[in-house]
Amino acid sequence: MPSGSVRGRGVSGPAGAERAAVPGRDTSVLKQDFLDILVCPKCKGKLEYDEGEQTLTCWECRLRYEIDDDIPIMLIDKAKPVPPDESP
Ligand SMILES: [Zn+2]
Repeated sequence: MPSGSVRGRGVSGPAGAERAAVPGRDTSVLKQDFLDILVCPKCKGKLEYDEGEQTLTCWECRLRYEIDDDIPIMLIDKAKPVPPDESP
């Protein structure tokens, strides 16, 4: 029954209860968060995500990291150099 809410009298609800972290609930949000925290392992700079190519590019180092099955391969050894004619 949603119609019984009283406003303005300082009703003390369960504070902070709805801010509990639920890990792995929404994969798309998770993915965005994931991308936000991903940095180039070499320069710790930001990476550019290419959804079509499934790659992450660091323009600072001109290295391109591949994403294999949703798992970015964040290894400098595995990264491929960005061709010289490409730019951000
Ligand atoms: Zn870098």
